[in-house]
Amino acid sequence: MTKAYDVVVVGAGNAALCAALSAGEAGASVLVLEKAPEYFRGGNTYFTGGAIRCAYRGLKDVKALIPDMSAEEEEALEVGSYTQAEYYDDLMRVTEGMSDPALAQTLVSRSHPTLRWMRAQGLRFVPLYGRQSFMQEGKHRFWGGLVVEAVGGGKGLSDQLFAISMELGVDVWYESKGVKLLTDERGGVCGVRVQTSVGMRDVAARSVVLACGGFEANAEMRTRYLGPGWELVKVRGVPYNTGDGIRMALDVGAQSYGHWSGCHAVAWDLNAPPTGDRNVTDLFQKHSYPFGIVVNVEGRRFVDEGADLRNYTYAKYGREIMNQPRRAAFQIFDGKVKHLLRDEYSIAQCTMGEADTLEELAGALDIEPQGLMETVASFNEAVQSGEFDPTRLDGKGTLGISPPKSNWALTIDTPPYLGYAVTCGITFTFGGLRINERGQVLSTEGTPVRGLFAAGELVGGLFYHNYPGGAGLMAGSVFGRIAGASAAGV
Ligand SMILES: Cc1cc2nc3c(=O)[nH]c(=O)nc-3n(C[C@H](O)[C@H](O)[C@H](O)COP(=O)(O)OP(=O)(O)OC[C@H]3O[C@@H](n4cnc5c(N)ncnc54)[C@H](O)[C@@H]3O)c2cc1C
Repeated sequence: MTKAYDVVVVGAGNAALCAALSAGEAGASVLVLEKAPEYFRGGNTYFTGGAIRCAYRGLKDVKALIPDMSAEEEEALEVGSYTQAEYYDDLMRVTEGMSDPALAQTLVSRSHPTLRWMRAQGLRFVPLYGRQSFMQEGKHRFWGGLVVEAVGGGKGLSDQLFAISMELGVDVWYESKGVKLLTDERGGVCGVRVQTSVGMRDVAARSVVLACGGFEANAEMRTRYLGPGWELVKVRGVPYNTGDGIRMALDVGAQSYGHWSGCHAVAWDLNAPPTGDRNVTDLFQKHSYPFGIVVNVEGRRFVDEGADLRNYTYAKYGREIMNQPRRAAFQIFDGKVKHLLRDEYSIAQCTMGEADTLEELAGALDIEPQGLMETVASFNEAVQSGEFDPTRLDGKGTLGISPPKSNWALTIDTPPYLGYAVTCGITFTFGGLRINERGQVLSTEGTPVRGLFAAGELVGGLFYHNYPGGAGLMAGSVFGRIAGASAAGV
């Protein structure tokens, strides 16, 4: 047995480091175990855009997170508000009413206070320009309830969290994989067995916080729980989130909870590598589909591209793409909307085609040309009149085609025609462990497993079927902070 710690945190992403900070702030000695080598540290958190969804009443609340905002910047912002009730309703709406009400309420009500706490720890945020706002009449008009991101995106968030944790005296062991929870004679958790490059080590702890991600990078578990075909998808983030924390907890009697056959999965470049690339990070995603149409290799549409604001559809459309022939889809745009495409459409690594005619585009991308021509012709005929407005659900839809396009329906008739080839990229899994309001892991009998806490992706019960963009980091921070404080005995 090596030196004992008050709190051992397994994982080193956002949830883990928020737990470490919160436990350290409460005076606990803290060890963070990171399976990855130092160079690859930071989990999926590193790969994010750093966008965080919090409730806010107006600009004053946003300024509390960005106190260094200049007067000119403030003048050019139109953030509106995003109340706790709206956040809660969005969460319930996209999860088909299934999100655990207590977890959902905690996430929503603690979102802004937790970001203020992070800011007080030294984390810096900026307005989420570009991806969540459009310029209208000289103002950045935000849409979709998502207004802040960490400085430097996911990499910045991760680097800042590590730096602040180190300053606080948190120890971090790299290449150290938690493999087993140690239990005492009464069944409580009293440490972790760790596989390191120099062999197995048992670390004693008063409490353990599990924050080591879901099972999205484990092909066997994906197939077992999400279903056939999921072993073939691309993983958007790290190869390290292989369900270890969930398995370790289940082994000591923890309760499984949430949507085990559900996950967050998006449109991801067809030729992206099997797991995340630390330079490209999230730019393989292709999220501007609400302004075009999406077809499969036969040239047929299969989703309502404008069903809702992008934040509320993108995480479930990856699954729809996985179910298409060859797990492939093509996002088709015309010259009228080229200027609206997000930054990720201009990277060198895009699998894309550009042509003056749709036939040429179909040829370039290997789409069945007749199918594409027929689809575009019937789509164009179905487009209804109305004012196109990308900052809101504009109601400019189609009539008489299936699936419909409910908003932002513009005819596709102006060269150049652009096509982007995508496949399914999995982000994280929804099933996991059951926790209570203190972040304690519950047993199969519904009682807390003594000494065991959890936060982040491996907590089940919050997301079902779908997910509101930016809620993953927020959930990790809220429940990480709670778990860390509880683990330290506060
Ligand atoms: C490309 C991409 C973009 C995203 N964009 C956003 C966004 O903008 N906003 C948002 O809210 N969410 C976003 N997400 C989702 C977000 O990444 C997650 O919700 C969040 O980062 C999860 O945090 P976490 O701390 O639970 O897990 P992670 O950050 O993945 O951390 C898990 C850690 O556990 C470690 N680990 C795993 N097993 C072990 C073990 N046995 N022992 C020790 N360590 C272990 C891993 O190495 C890793 O460090 C995105 C995800 C991806 C992949």
